[in-house]
Amino acid sequence: MEKNSKTGFIGLGIMGKPMARNLLKAGYQLIVYDINKEAVKELVEAGAAEGKSSADVASQSDVIITMLPNSPEVEQVVLGPDGILTGAGQGTILVDMSSIAPLATRALSEKLSEKGVIMLDAPVSGGEPKAVEGTLAIMAGGPEDAFNKVKDMLSAMGSSVTLVGEIGSGNVTKLANQIIVALNIAAVGEAMVLAKKAGVDPGKVYQAIRGGLAGSTVLDAKMPLILAGNFKPGFRIELHIKDLMNAIDTANELNVNAILTEKVLGIMETLRDDGKAKDDHGGLIQYYEKLAGTEVRGKL
Ligand code: NAD
Repeated sequence: MEKNSKTGFIGLGIMGKPMARNLLKAGYQLIVYDINKEAVKELVEAGAAEGKSSADVASQSDVIITMLPNSPEVEQVVLGPDGILTGAGQGTILVDMSSIAPLATRALSEKLSEKGVIMLDAPVSGGEPKAVEGTLAIMAGGPEDAFNKVKDMLSAMGSSVTLVGEIGSGNVTKLANQIIVALNIAAVGEAMVLAKKAGVDPGKVYQAIRGGLAGSTVLDAKMPLILAGNFKPGFRIELHIKDLMNAIDTANELNVNAILTEKVLGIMETLRDDGKAKDDHGGLIQYYEKLAGTEVRGKL
């Protein structure tokens, strides 16, 4: 896609804002929209044009990117009054980078195709720091020719951009990613509270094991924050609950066992009911800390 063609960007939250900034930095002309006017103002100050609605953005764009919380918001932005479907022309490409249910993606893609709009799903992994750096892992699903047209654009936001398969494959991949991340965070929490209760310094445990088989990107990303007691998001527990519910719905439809995912979802729901829905998912350790009556804090 040429840089002088207009690109729409809808959803300027924790992730969308830095992703849109990276597109501007790479020279793309953006027209942006969000129901949060403050976020729109920030991007306009950085050089984007302001859209009046999702339909307005769509009517001026060859490619539209959405980065919204979940399936209902994407459905609203695409199919709702003043939505993308009312504004987009034939041949427009919609790249939904939100993490949503794969079945919702497939249903939306069918509706869009009736109007000649091509959809790709391209959820991301890496969180806010990688969104800022432009080094997200992007996992895409959809037609290869459309993917090739937007690959350079996606590369301005991510360091790895992979077409996994047909439409919906990106979100299936993201569900797999979210299961692995959630279970890994729970394992870190369970293990570090045990170490603390057994009288061993969790910072030293971390240093001792990070180079071995237990080492992981999750361990390296979350342990410094846990030791500092910093649970500012990042990726909110409420969003991870959404992803695990989408994973369990998909597992149920396919008759696949997801016993560990169900357990960790239960822990996250307990934390949500305890007022911690907006904490970073690294804050999952607080469940174990409360039960054990200790806190894993200290130096690296
Ligand atoms: P967020 O809640 O910070 O941002 C969502 C944005 O969408 C907000 O600015 C909100 O105002 C806007 N929005 C909601 N409804 C809208 C509507 N109808 N019209 C226009 N704008 C609307 O969420 P986020 O953390 O940026 O996450 C976005 C997506 O990326 C989610 O699906 C999340 O699961 C996924 N994700 C997040 C992270 C992370 O670390 N935060 C990492 C990977 C993937």
